[in-house]
Amino acid sequence: MLIYLLVLALPQTEPASPSPLTWSFPEVQLELTLPAEVTVVSEQKLEDSMTLQRWKTNYGKYALGFELVVVPRKEWGLRDPFDVLENIAYNRRLDPKQLAFRFEEQQVLQGPLGPVPFAAGATAGIWNVTERIGTEFFVAGLTENKGYSIRGRCTPTPDKKTRAAIFALFQEGIRFTGKVEDPSWTEEEALARWERDRPEDLAGEMKIYRTKHYIIFTNSSSGKKFAAKMEECYEAIQETFPFPEIPNRRLMPVFLFRTKEEYIDYYAKIANISKKSAANSKGHAWRDYYATYYDSPVDPVHIHEATHQIFSNRLKLSGGGSWFQEGVAEYMSTKKNERKGFARTAARKGGFTAFREFVTIPSLLQSGGKSKTGENLAHNHYLQAASMIDFLRNSKFGKPHFDAFLKSVGRVRRGDVVAIEAAIQKIYEVDLTGLEAEWIEYWD
Ligand SMILES: [Zn+2]
Repeated sequence: MLIYLLVLALPQTEPASPSPLTWSFPEVQLELTLPAEVTVVSEQKLEDSMTLQRWKTNYGKYALGFELVVVPRKEWGLRDPFDVLENIAYNRRLDPKQLAFRFEEQQVLQGPLGPVPFAAGATAGIWNVTERIGTEFFVAGLTENKGYSIRGRCTPTPDKKTRAAIFALFQEGIRFTGKVEDPSWTEEEALARWERDRPEDLAGEMKIYRTKHYIIFTNSSSGKKFAAKMEECYEAIQETFPFPEIPNRRLMPVFLFRTKEEYIDYYAKIANISKKSAANSKGHAWRDYYATYYDSPVDPVHIHEATHQIFSNRLKLSGGGSWFQEGVAEYMSTKKNERKGFARTAARKGGFTAFREFVTIPSLLQSGGKSKTGENLAHNHYLQAASMIDFLRNSKFGKPHFDAFLKSVGRVRRGDVVAIEAAIQKIYEVDLTGLEAEWIEYWD
């Protein structure tokens, strides 16, 4: 009764400023709240299965339009907010008018923004021929079953302070209403993963070790020593190809088997390949994991495969082609002298594969046969790839733009010679033949 009276007694005036507005999307466990300083001009709910809603707003003197898009997580292989971002870039580049699309700046937005408790933010320029007219904003994250993204367009081009404020709007405005995952894996999750992927004969035999960056599943008694070795690999790779440490990133799984036979059983089962082909490798990084067997912890295979795992799961640079991926991995697992031994002779006597052809080889591993001089071609190709990365990272010619090279070529569709050459041309102002000439000069 008292409450009733109080309500009646409230003054009937308009509030001084509108309250924040909240939209709920329970089907994807997301909520979006915009603060009062954002004026909503119009909003449109869509029946589209991917674009859920569009907004037109004003933020100070800026027009800010944006939409909420969701895509299936499992089918698209989205394990991390940066995967969602990379997918956007990948799809943009399928449009012939946006072949060279790339993000300008990327950042991490921490908070309850998904089961993985952070989101990835990025911007890109909006151009009218040669005139910059605005900035695109992307905030990408995960829900239980979806990858989501806020895709915004702000005009005119906002300054640095406004860009930060717009990211803050979404960082504070987006809320994931489901269960936030444990980045270190719960015991239940770890067991479920082992049970799903383990070879049939290994029921019940497994220990788990967690390090700062890895979760190691093993039946080997050397698990702990091996875990420490993986951390050393991580550190060396991060120092060579810098990437930021993001708190709350999910530990990367490593399967360490006691015997070669167990490893072969694991690989044949998970990849659905014959035991014979599985036996050709000593370890392999695929999807989110690295699997190997215990031989020697200093075997170069570990840092080679750890590099593949990190390029795919941390740096998010899965493109370029086999030459690029094997080049960075082999750069980590070979010594300078091995690369030099190959490259000097190759550069002087022409014993290498022309760059234009080399970048299109789908798999260096499968590029078998013998070279003109009777050497194993796949082995030489690995060294050629490593010597290219060495040259780009350490030569006077390559070094100043090495980071741009990694980020740009590592995002190009694998083996797309036109896109690779365009990226090289933009960064180093030479075509692939010109790059090859510089590589020869460096090693000669
Ligand atoms: Zn490799």
